[in-house]
Amino acid sequence: MGFQDAVLTGLAPDGGLLVPETIPDVTAKLTGWEGLSFVALAREIVPLFVEDIALKDLEQLITDAYVNFTHPEIVPLTQVGDVTVMELFHGPTLAFKDVALQLLGQIFAYILGRTNKHMNILAATSGDTGSAAIAGMRGLSQVDIFVMYPRGRVSRLQELQMTTEVDGNVHCLAVEGSFDDCQNLMKTIFGDLAFKEKYSLGAANSVNWARVVAQIVYYSYASLKLGGDQPVSFCVPTGNFGNVFAGFIAKRMGFPIKQLILATNENDILAKFFDSGVYERGEVRYTVTPAMDIQVASNFERFLYYHMNCDPVALSEFMADFALSGRAELAAPLRSEDFLATAVDVDDTLSTIRKVYETSGYVADPHTAVGLAAAERFALDEPLVCLATAHPAKFPEAVNKAVGADVAHHPALDDLCDRESRTTNVPADVEAIKDVIRSLGR
Ligand SMILES: *Cc1c(COP(=O)(O)O)cnc(C)c1O
Repeated sequence: MGFQDAVLTGLAPDGGLLVPETIPDVTAKLTGWEGLSFVALAREIVPLFVEDIALKDLEQLITDAYVNFTHPEIVPLTQVGDVTVMELFHGPTLAFKDVALQLLGQIFAYILGRTNKHMNILAATSGDTGSAAIAGMRGLSQVDIFVMYPRGRVSRLQELQMTTEVDGNVHCLAVEGSFDDCQNLMKTIFGDLAFKEKYSLGAANSVNWARVVAQIVYYSYASLKLGGDQPVSFCVPTGNFGNVFAGFIAKRMGFPIKQLILATNENDILAKFFDSGVYERGEVRYTVTPAMDIQVASNFERFLYYHMNCDPVALSEFMADFALSGRAELAAPLRSEDFLATAVDVDDTLSTIRKVYETSGYVADPHTAVGLAAAERFALDEPLVCLATAHPAKFPEAVNKAVGADVAHHPALDDLCDRESRTTNVPADVEAIKDVIRSLGR
């Protein structure tokens, strides 16, 4: 399958995820790439995964994708105590998902613009994907976007960021259920191939390979900037494993990356798996980090594929076991030289926000704080980059409570409450969601 088809299809027809046939080796190019800006580096890296868009066009799409970022460095690095924080939240919706979804919007518009096709994008969101996907797709004449989110389980501002968008091609669906329910609905609907075909369904979630490609760039950028002779480690607040999986690919490409610290909240299915080799679903716990209130991480399957030496049969069996019983186990314990993993509870998250603020004046959002708390648990010799995945103003209740002062603001969010908002309540039911797409989709 070519890159364009991979982008349009999202999930593979058999319900699996797409991976590249080969991972490019960039070791020989690293020296020449030192000192490149984020966008210049993106223009080198993204084309390595795209064989069917003319290079000149692709470079333009990449440049256009980052014009709406408000920081000149796009993903600035800043020193906070002993660690370097990489801020990924300077895009239009103030979360790291903009880095990939601004590019994905450009790519969708480009591919569809060369045909007369229309697409209906279906997304499931625990909060931030929804607004970032909408910001990437709003106003596109050949796209309608449907965003399912768990009703009452995303923050007030996150909901307003989605529902105050007035463009006619944006449809928000408040689902009576959890984020895992939304993700399941999506999987089921994508599994109905006749429906998928008839309504040209596309995916904006990180199951879409293009998102992973875009995210590889900031790992590369930071590792080149800080690495020099010594590889760099990253600490990544993790939910669906999309972000950290891009770091894993960047490492495999040959960028100077040592370890990836996987930081989860109390939904610790992944942290437990790395310790024990047992992958077991539990009940979702609701925390101050809603973007990570996930039990089943959709992108994890991609990592398992590589871990199982690219054996698709072994992987299918593992995933089938898990789908059936909510539990699956590896034949051998999962040891990985690539990953460290730990889970951070709500108390630790809030006290980390407070401590970081008191010692350095830095205001971290709760997701970022999960990473900062996790990073403290490991004594590493190499430089460490903690990824800051959201602006603190997206989660003012938790941040202000932790700090004990009103410190979390952003002008883009201050006037949201006065705007008109629009959403449709739906039950967590496949037919109900399909009906909405049948009636509003084109
Ligand atoms: C989506 C999100 C995460 C989790 O990222 P994954 O790719 O799902 O692991 C972490 N923090 C914030 C703020 C997010 O929006």
